Amino acid sequence: MATQVQDEQETDPEDVTALDNARRQLERAAKLVDVDEGIVERLKHPTKVQRVAVPLKRDDGDVEVYTGYRSQHDDVRGPYKGGLRFHPDVTEDECVGLSMWMTWKCAVMDLPFGGAKGGIVVNPKDLSTDEKERLTRRFAEELRDFVGPKKDIPAPDMGTDAQTMAWFMDAYSMQEGETTPGVVTGKPPVIGGSYGREEAPGRSVAIIAREAIDYYDMDIEETTVAVQGFGSVGANAARLLDDYGANVVAVSDVNGAIYDPEGLDTHDVPTHEEEPEAVMKYDAQEKLSNEELLELDVDVLVPAAIGDVITTANAADIAADIVVEGANGPTTFAAAEILEDRGVAVIPDILANAGGVTVSYFEWLQDINRRAWSLERVYEELESSMLEAWGDVSEARDELDVTWRDAAYVVGLSRIAEAKESRGLWP
Ligand code: NAD
Repeated sequence: MATQVQDEQETDPEDVTALDNARRQLERAAKLVDVDEGIVERLKHPTKVQRVAVPLKRDDGDVEVYTGYRSQHDDVRGPYKGGLRFHPDVTEDECVGLSMWMTWKCAVMDLPFGGAKGGIVVNPKDLSTDEKERLTRRFAEELRDFVGPKKDIPAPDMGTDAQTMAWFMDAYSMQEGETTPGVVTGKPPVIGGSYGREEAPGRSVAIIAREAIDYYDMDIEETTVAVQGFGSVGANAARLLDDYGANVVAVSDVNGAIYDPEGLDTHDVPTHEEEPEAVMKYDAQEKLSNEELLELDVDVLVPAAIGDVITTANAADIAADIVVEGANGPTTFAAAEILEDRGVAVIPDILANAGGVTVSYFEWLQDINRRAWSLERVYEELESSMLEAWGDVSEARDELDVTWRDAAYVVGLSRIAEAKESRGLWP
């Protein structure tokens, strides 16, 4: 019966919400750590969820009202941190689930932040630039009492970008009466954004893939890699792995994949930003579908496009030895169990793409200290943060003999539980 329910959930990924997944993973990790049940129970619930109405005067004078959310999951280790998305599918439950993920991600990286996530239920493609600006400013005002450099620090996510963060920061600063760059991260560098923020998630994926290759005693020069998605995360990861000496044999975008068993010149293939959806126009030896790319017989597979691409439908056919999750949630819960049984190492998103939130932390430090770091310094600090987190997770994995995902959750959950034990429960 349980299998049937799981299969049904798998055939319709909509049924497995981000919140279901986050709770399941918490329960799984809680069994591996000596943690008080009360603490696990507290972590199943967000501390606060704000739901706000965001009215917008359209360019034609009509007024529409959108719904916005901000879920603040846990702040035992520091202010809440997480993205704001503008997307028609945003729901309260999704924000809560994604805010829990942010709590674990920040804890795995040992950052002094907790997890948050928010957004507006809107398709930003239906709005003009002026309308987007007005919507963002009004959202900032509705959230003003709940955010701030010491309370909750939003960042870009789906449908939002550096410009959105600049408007948010300006609206907040105007109302507070003081320029407050630390209220958001992912801003343009000219108003306190950090160099290297955009490349950071892809960079961390490459660093973690390199460490995983080394962990399994493989020679990076002899390693073949396939990357799904050639956007910010996928292209930065592919190019850096190429620079490290790996043989990137396949990359893809939404239209399909290009493949060359001798290796692609990843710096020559246009990224999503350089020329959107141009991967298939590149002159490569072979063209494949995205499904075929996922099943290529390579050493390392990096799904870096969207969630839920490795499911029970293809988990048995994944031929890579190591999967490094560049996207958030590319492997479903049930698919992860199949890969585990087959001995495929899956390095989880909360570690691999955590370079983004790590450089957001660097940005916040630069903002509150009013001192910008050079790109070299950002890269050096990111490298050492990633190596430290990799060391902590691989130590937990070796000690407990569990999957990489479980090991990452154990590291994160132990840190949060210790902080909660030490602070106690008030009153
Ligand atoms: P992006 O928009 O820059 O690039 C996405 C790429 O994936 C594009 O090449 C696009 O063509 C391709 N793509 C889209 N739909 C696809 C599909 N159905 N099949 C195959 N390819 C498809 O996005 P990004 O910023 O690189 O984000 C990619 C993933 O990484 C997302 O899951 C995102 O949540 C996650 N992520 C992003 C960041 C960040 O700061 N950029 C940080 C952590 C995680």
